[in-house]
Amino acid sequence: MPDAPNFQIEAGEVIGATTYHSPNFNARPTDTEIQLIVIHNISLPPAQFGGGYIQQFFQNQLDWSLHPYFKSIEGMKVSAHLLILRSGEVLQFVNLNDRAWHAGRSQYLGKEECNDYSIGIELEGSDDCDFSEAQYQSLSAVVAVIQQAYPKIKSHIAGHSDIAPVRKTDPGPHFDWLYFRSLLHARNNHVQKIG
Ligand SMILES: [Zn+2]
Repeated sequence: MPDAPNFQIEAGEVIGATTYHSPNFNARPTDTEIQLIVIHNISLPPAQFGGGYIQQFFQNQLDWSLHPYFKSIEGMKVSAHLLILRSGEVLQFVNLNDRAWHAGRSQYLGKEECNDYSIGIELEGSDDCDFSEAQYQSLSAVVAVIQQAYPKIKSHIAGHSDIAPVRKTDPGPHFDWLYFRSLLHARNNHVQKIG
């Protein structure tokens, strides 16, 4: 694995990620264990990458007048815990131990309100194009350490479209679950051997 990124988790902070602060979170309900990872995609404006608009959006600092599409999301207060840019850089907006507002109305294996017990990871991307190799590498690396830090997750990793199928389509048909799972599997084997 050339240039495979490495991360660590300390008190809900991802060491190796760039820290941002979103106000769009609250405390998880008492005695709620983290037991799910939700994968999303986002781009602002849709299918355009770079520009820093997602970061501004998650921090409630986006200027809605800059693009016609922004009008359609004006006033929305959302954030994932993590955002992985096309370069593979990982940005953290919300402490993993807090409840980020990423999933909306949702259900996983019959359990509602996925925000209560999940960690949300956004990939900068769209339903219409492939994700970058750097994103797969960073995603598998960060998910592997999250699974270690929160063992209840086990292999519970879902797409937003899996937990909100009528409303949501992301991460979309271009997200290669098999490839991601194979990278993750390799990571976990490695972690077990050295751990
Ligand atoms: Zn989503």
